[in-house]
Amino acid sequence: MPKTLEKPSSKTSLRKILNPATEQVLAEVPDQSAADVDRAVQNAKKAFGGWSRKTPAERSAALLKLAQLLEDNAQRLAELESKNVGKPIKLAKDGDVPFAIDNLRYFAGVARHLEGRAAGEYSPGYASFIRREPIGVVGLVAPWNYPLMMAIWKLGPALAAGNTAVLKPSELTPLTTLELGKLAESALPEGVLNIVTGAEETGVALTSHKDIAMVSFTGDTETGKKIMAQAAPTLKKLHLELGGKAPFVVFEDADLTAALNGAAVASFVNSGQDCTAATRIYVHESVYKKFLLSFVNDFVAKIRVGDPSSPKTDMGSLVSADQLGRVEGFLKRHTQGRVLCGGKRPKGLAKGFFFEPTVIADVPQKAELMQREIFGPIVCVAPFRTEEEAIEKANDVPYGLAGSVWTSNIQRSIRVSGALRFGTVWINDHLPLASEMPHGGFKQSGFGKDMSAYALEEYTTVKHVMADTTGVARKPWHYTAFGDA
Ligand code: NAD
Repeated sequence: MPKTLEKPSSKTSLRKILNPATEQVLAEVPDQSAADVDRAVQNAKKAFGGWSRKTPAERSAALLKLAQLLEDNAQRLAELESKNVGKPIKLAKDGDVPFAIDNLRYFAGVARHLEGRAAGEYSPGYASFIRREPIGVVGLVAPWNYPLMMAIWKLGPALAAGNTAVLKPSELTPLTTLELGKLAESALPEGVLNIVTGAEETGVALTSHKDIAMVSFTGDTETGKKIMAQAAPTLKKLHLELGGKAPFVVFEDADLTAALNGAAVASFVNSGQDCTAATRIYVHESVYKKFLLSFVNDFVAKIRVGDPSSPKTDMGSLVSADQLGRVEGFLKRHTQGRVLCGGKRPKGLAKGFFFEPTVIADVPQKAELMQREIFGPIVCVAPFRTEEEAIEKANDVPYGLAGSVWTSNIQRSIRVSGALRFGTVWINDHLPLASEMPHGGFKQSGFGKDMSAYALEEYTTVKHVMADTTGVARKPWHYTAFGDA
């Protein structure tokens, strides 16, 4: 276990960590208590003074060193991520791990560009300037779908800004975060990064701890609501990246081949366990049948489901038996719409939490399948007649994380991307993100941005320093509270 992992107290129980594709036990990791969390927070508190007073260049150098260590261990980390999440090795190796490293390097760079927006004389006899300061000890709570990447998306801006952190990975997928902790020991000063493992109880202890100044959480919308309540008594700053139900809107003038390729990737990436996954495909009625036929037969039927360690696998397992049960539950409850393919566990895979890529057509807008985040390999497809109808349907969910519009009409692409109420909107693609650009939700997908300079701002607070420039003891305005003019 890394030193960054708070030493568990003797009574702590151990949780079995599974490979969800084989159901084999990979490791046993402690479920840490409130007392363990408290020790981790106190370590972070002790380290805050030293780390926050370091120059941006020094913090940047430490993060670059950590990024290099991650790169040196990239293959091993990708294999571990693939095993613990059940995700295809090609996704872990060419997606999660390099993007996490790029993100950390970006924040190492941007750490040196923290600036206030104004300095000057705004009131006669006074000079004012802005300082952007770290918030303090931040509590970071990550989900299981992209464990290392989500940890880095939080750690990068938090540490770049001068905060110290206590990080809790998901109880299902802590393994790459523990490896990150080991690597961080030779890159970061003691106490800057602390890791606690465990499930909801550990998360509650962290997000309600009085010395945690800010909570950054990525996970389910319902957990986000609980965290708001847990953070309320001590009025913590919050950054919430929550669920999604992304629309994918295909107009009659779209390049249909591009849209079909895009839909296959965007709907089933990471077994659909992706908050930006295209889960609602709306297709113009004039090309609806053609799209569906080709989508099911030429694309979804060819998705290779199976052993995540094979470079030929497109889709691995779901993350857990519970997640599989949740996905199956949606299908058991559904009464409207036609299941065109999938809808069950694949044959020939005796072990593991696998589910077939599933396409359901003609799903009514108000059906549960269209309205709630499933977080599995199920995509709903429905037709639309007009641009207005497409926009209305696309926006008609409680979520607002991401969406896409497919058209060859430039004016329409600008019009529709503006009308969609989502934090990221793609035109003629769906999924790619960039470290330099923000990612975050509207509506019940949360608030606050990951990535980009906006994320660095999330993890800082603005201070106004106002200095007397006259040296006069009695100021002209003092009479308003004491004496005469
Ligand atoms: P989850 O909400 O069940 O768990 C997330 C984390 O919160 C875990 O570490 C868990 O142990 C912890 N937790 C649970 N209850 C808690 C509580 N009361 N207080 C504090 N911590 C608590 O989510 P998940 O199932 O791990 O992840 C899937 C969800 O994450 C999906 O809804 C998905 O859309 C969302 N997600 C969002 C983004 C984004 O960028 N918006 C990215 C990835 C995942």
